[in-house]
Amino acid sequence: LQALQHGQAATMYDASQDEAFVRYHYRFGRLRDAMAQNQLTQHFQPLINIRTGKLVAAEALARWFDPEEGFISPLEFIPIAESSGLIKPLTRWTIREALHQCALWQTDFPGVAVSVNLSVRSLFDTELLPMLRQLLQETGINPALVRLEVTESLMLSAPEKGLAILQDIVALGVRLAIDDYGTGFSSLGYLKHLPVQELKIDQRFISQLVDDRGNMAIVESTIDLAHHLGLMVVAEGIEDQETMQQLWLLGCDIGQGYYYSKPMPIDDYLSWCHHYQQQQLLGPLAGVDGD
Ligand code: C2E
Ligand code: MG
Ligand code: MG
Ligand code: MG
Repeated sequence: LQALQHGQAATMYDASQDEAFVRYHYRFGRLRDAMAQNQLTQHFQPLINIRTGKLVAAEALARWFDPEEGFISPLEFIPIAESSGLIKPLTRWTIREALHQCALWQTDFPGVAVSVNLSVRSLFDTELLPMLRQLLQETGINPALVRLEVTESLMLSAPEKGLAILQDIVALGVRLAIDDYGTGFSSLGYLKHLPVQELKIDQRFISQLVDDRGNMAIVESTIDLAHHLGLMVVAEGIEDQETMQQLWLLGCDIGQGYYYSKPMPIDDYLSWCHHYQQQQLLGPLAGVDGD
């Protein structure tokens, strides 16, 4: 299908494609320079145990502030990095940075894990495993506190090689999550062959949960099936209390979204954690028992 699309693109002239090409190259150059000058940063977004309201992890999300253009979304620059050679150094930096931060916050927040997004191309980076092994040793983090998020698409590109690498990662004690579940083409029956421990249901099903019966049915059956397969279920994109409570009723394990907090720079994230640990207001019965 992809070849077909490329073939079509080549035969039809379209001025907007020239513009897109120029823009892509411009952005590519700026991204390369930004990386060389350490202009990328990471934000952290809490993941909460829905039943208990306890903080369990934070997802590290890459941020690029371009002095001329302001913040550029990772939805824009990650694909640029992926289609060029930049994704491998970017991912190495991401993992290194995230693991060091996680090691640092163990003093104040022991047991809080860190989650990192892993692009398909980075999975095939031969330096990935040695780097993970070395970082785990260097930081002394319990490997179970490191989670790598991969998308379903990874198994479409090189199923056997991909599977072997996933197994090597899990052998280190690191956990794997399927990100954006429901946006690809794989079924849960297929995913049971992968050595993953977690499923993140894509936010498109969560943001329209309570008033969309179709989404409700999809999310409910996904949670049940995932649990039968022994997977933990994470819902991303929880924006209000009603959605959180609905997910709690459906038995979802972990929640992430603006309802708890937006992604934050590390200092804000750490202050948020301190505050949250003292208050813990966001469990499913928050505001109920006081009435
Ligand atoms: P993702 O891994 O699915 O990350 C979740 C995205 O949803 C984040 O967007 C987060 O800010 C956003 N989000 C979280 N809660 C809510 C909510 O309640 N409402 C709404 N509307 N959005 C919410 P972000 O940070 O813009 O990242 C977008 C995507 O970029 C990520 O999706 C991930 O695929 C990719 N990405 C980000 N950082 C990295 C990285 O370091 N490496 C790789 N390979 N990809 C990354
Ligand atoms: Mg993710
Ligand atoms: Mg996601
Ligand atoms: Mg997403």
